[in-house]
Amino acid sequence: KAIFRTRELTKIYRSGDVEVRALNGVDITLYEGEMTVLLGPSGSGKSTFLNIVGGLDTPTSGSVHFGDEELTAYSERQLTRYRRDHVGFVFQFYNLIPSLTAWENVALVTEVARDPMSPDEALGMVDLGDRMTHFPAQMSGGEQQRVAIARAIAKRPEVLLCDEPTGALDSKTGILVLEALAKINDELGTTTAVITHNAAIQAIAHRVVSFIDGKIAQIKTNETRIRPS
Ligand code: ADP
Ligand code: ADP
Repeated sequence: KAIFRTRELTKIYRSGDVEVRALNGVDITLYEGEMTVLLGPSGSGKSTFLNIVGGLDTPTSGSVHFGDEELTAYSERQLTRYRRDHVGFVFQFYNLIPSLTAWENVALVTEVARDPMSPDEALGMVDLGDRMTHFPAQMSGGEQQRVAIARAIAKRPEVLLCDEPTGALDSKTGILVLEALAKINDELGTTTAVITHNAAIQAIAHRVVSFIDGKIAQIKTNETRIRPS
């Protein structure tokens, strides 16, 4: 079942005489419960696409549907509610609050969400049950990113959008982070889209979408997705 459908999605950045077509007519469907990886060279439009689908940015033209809802017809206020209720975000940098423990960083979200999981459950999902009272400075980069993932999923979003979550990590640590995302996708059924250069993820994703110059160059479907261990 489709969760996102884009039609002729186009984003043009203008500054003075210079025009950059970050997205140039993207038509794609993302499916409920799937994990999709977005690949492509730097500047090919991946972040722009993720930001528009996540309601952080709006296109120059074209449309995005989220189920029966047209995101591209939403007001600023509706987009804010959409992000709050439906989307979890993970970025390259973890943005944890240094003076709070892992548990407290996640609790900041669970205290205000409508039907959250407990911080213990969220941290357990990313295998950090034994790090709950650690402060960010006491954890490795991979652990901090997994706290950020726990924080993103604690409100039980339908959609998890991850922009280079492994960008600041070595490839071995990055794989642990990607495996945590695959486990969440598997166990919670959260529709997940991940921008990453880490080749290892390709086998555990349902679909791999390659961007080139603001267009989709290729979509690869994994018939037999490798389950995270
Ligand atoms: P990717 O995520 O694949 O690296 P981006 O979506 O970040 O690509 O960028 C696509 C293109 O749009 C690039 O040429 C980039 O320089 C340009 N771009 C992105 N954001 C902005 C912005 N805020 N203002 C101007 N140009 C931008
Ligand atoms: P990595 O090998 O992944 O870079 P580190 O060597 O920095 O990680 O840390 C290894 C383990 O020790 C981590 O699980 C981390 O939680 C713990 N740790 C690191 N520094 C501290 C500290 N100052 N206090 C408590 N635990 C720490």
